[in-house]
Amino acid sequence: MRTSTAVTVIDPTVSEIELSGGERLSYNRLLIATGASPKRLSIAGSELAGIHYLRNVADADALRQVINTAIPVVVIGAGWIGAEVAASARQLGAEVALVELEPVPLKRVLGEEVGKIYRDLHAECEVKLHFGVGIESIRGTNKAEEVILSNGTTIATGVVVVSVGVAPRTELAQVAGLALDNGIVAEEYLASSVPGIFAAGDVANVLHPAYGQGIPLEHWSAALDQGPVAAKNMLGQNVAYHKVPFFYSDQYELGMGYRGWAPSFDEVVLRGDVTRRELIAFWMHHGKVAAAMNANIWDQGDSIEALISAGRLIDTGRLVDSDIDLANLVS
Ligand SMILES: Cc1cc2nc3c(=O)[nH]c(=O)nc-3n(C[C@H](O)[C@H](O)[C@H](O)COP(=O)(O)OP(=O)(O)OC[C@H]3O[C@@H](n4cnc5c(N)ncnc54)[C@H](O)[C@@H]3O)c2cc1C
Repeated sequence: MRTSTAVTVIDPTVSEIELSGGERLSYNRLLIATGASPKRLSIAGSELAGIHYLRNVADADALRQVINTAIPVVVIGAGWIGAEVAASARQLGAEVALVELEPVPLKRVLGEEVGKIYRDLHAECEVKLHFGVGIESIRGTNKAEEVILSNGTTIATGVVVVSVGVAPRTELAQVAGLALDNGIVAEEYLASSVPGIFAAGDVANVLHPAYGQGIPLEHWSAALDQGPVAAKNMLGQNVAYHKVPFFYSDQYELGMGYRGWAPSFDEVVLRGDVTRRELIAFWMHHGKVAAAMNANIWDQGDSIEALISAGRLIDTGRLVDSDIDLANLVS
């Protein structure tokens, strides 16, 4: 274990890596798990003090120190991290404005219909929503004091949190000549295009056998599950990574788990009580369940996963009926 040490070079021609102190180590098999880093804003004022990004514990500690009831917080981007930061800052009593290009939060994954559930939740919790609008600039004398939106609106602030997505940390892989495509391209055994080098977690774009392509999995469970699979393959066992994609999110009192992947879908079918936010949403594609989100319902995960994995045609009339056990639909 070498802590406080960066790998600066990977040289596949001699199977060696170089460390920040200059030392070289040889490898027989190598795993790259360098994660991702937040995309940065490049608008006028984006280098001012008081602008935060969130990736690691130090970032979280720094943000926690400055969030209080006296300083208005502006969160730029209502993806998972932005929406969760907005919720946490509100729960700490801060005044919060949330700015997002799309008309609802989390639209890229949830779509508009389910995104509205989260929009209404943040509105109820008195987050000031600025949706369907971009950022023009950030102004301030020594630190961020105002965020200017593209519609001319000015929002006073003291803390700006930028959460506009992440980029895989592929610098080492690029120099080493590995194939890249929004991450290190890896097949289902997590091997990269260069013999002996494997990739896992946020940095990897792993071919998923169920979808026939790599899918974006910048989530904790993929990182957790791919590690052991990579290790087994590095030891010569042939173990494919084929888990149903999964992630979770907690905002205020709304906890959810999301399984599957639905980049396109025909309809969203809702089961349960949307008003009480105790529901399961199913994203249907060609009559099959492509993805599902259980919100504040915690005992259906296995049945949901089985429904997705089965890949069968499902009668949506039975899917919405909470009296019918989901497990029966699978069988
Ligand atoms: C604020 C926040 C909230 C999140 N919330 C959720 C959530 O609710 N649910 C969920 O499913 N996922 C969530 N995620 C995503 C989840 O944390 C990531 O998917 C997961 O951490 C990815 O793990 P990883 O090991 O691939 O990368 P990382 O956790 O980023 O680890 C990569 C490590 O590699 C090190 N490294 C990088 N380059 C080098 C180098 N050259 N030399 C040596 N070391 C290097 C880094 O320092 C880092 O420690 C969240 C992420 C963030 C930032």
